[in-house]
Amino acid sequence: MHIQKNLQEIKRNIKEAANKSGRDEKDITLIAVTKTVDEDIINEALELEIQDIGENKVQEIQRKYDNIKEGIKWHMIGHLQSNKVKYIIDKVSLIHSLDRISLAKEIQKRAKQNNITMDCLVQVNISEEESKFGLKKEKVITFIESVLKYENIKIKGLMTMAPYMEDSEKTRCVFRELKKLSQEIEERAFPGVEMKFLSMGMTNDYMVAIEEGSNMVRIGTGIFGKRNY
Ligand SMILES: *Cc1c(COP(=O)(O)O)cnc(C)c1O
Repeated sequence: MHIQKNLQEIKRNIKEAANKSGRDEKDITLIAVTKTVDEDIINEALELEIQDIGENKVQEIQRKYDNIKEGIKWHMIGHLQSNKVKYIIDKVSLIHSLDRISLAKEIQKRAKQNNITMDCLVQVNISEEESKFGLKKEKVITFIESVLKYENIKIKGLMTMAPYMEDSEKTRCVFRELKKLSQEIEERAFPGVEMKFLSMGMTNDYMVAIEEGSNMVRIGTGIFGKRNY
């Protein structure tokens, strides 16, 4: 395991990219994506200044939750089925994949039952790839307007996944568009809506994403190595 070495390099890169865009590395949240990674290895990584972990499957969060050290922030970064919201509502700090009203309705219901407000990011499919979830860019503002009535949901920003490109430079326009969209939303000043987080950038493209304004990167392979499914 080279987790420590990998993390050092990633943190150096984050600093470099943050500085390039006139920011401090402390403004960037690093989410260690732990899907398929065993609990003992996750806990090892959590000794190395990681406070946030990301999973894309509800079952995996349920299975690992009790075995992971307390006080860690869990992020739901994958597609979320409405009927599974109840299993994670009391476990995750941020849902990155809010992309439809039916899901918002269910999150509202379960958050209210649990007496909490759930922080969510709206997932946007900037590149309009068929294989990706998320709202089309043009639909995001209307969507946010219709989520305003859900008192137990707080929209905290936007999330996107760029298409995989050998040359990460080619993804720059995707990140730039999400940033632009977040600024448009900010200008509307919807009550209770914050554009605090821009969750964009993975192992292959996080430096470009940060240069374009990301302040939340989701990195799996770069920390833990190739996944074994
Ligand atoms: C798996 C995953 C990541 C991390 O991907 P890597 O290329 O391993 O860094 C980030 N975001 C989402 C939504 C994922 O499912």
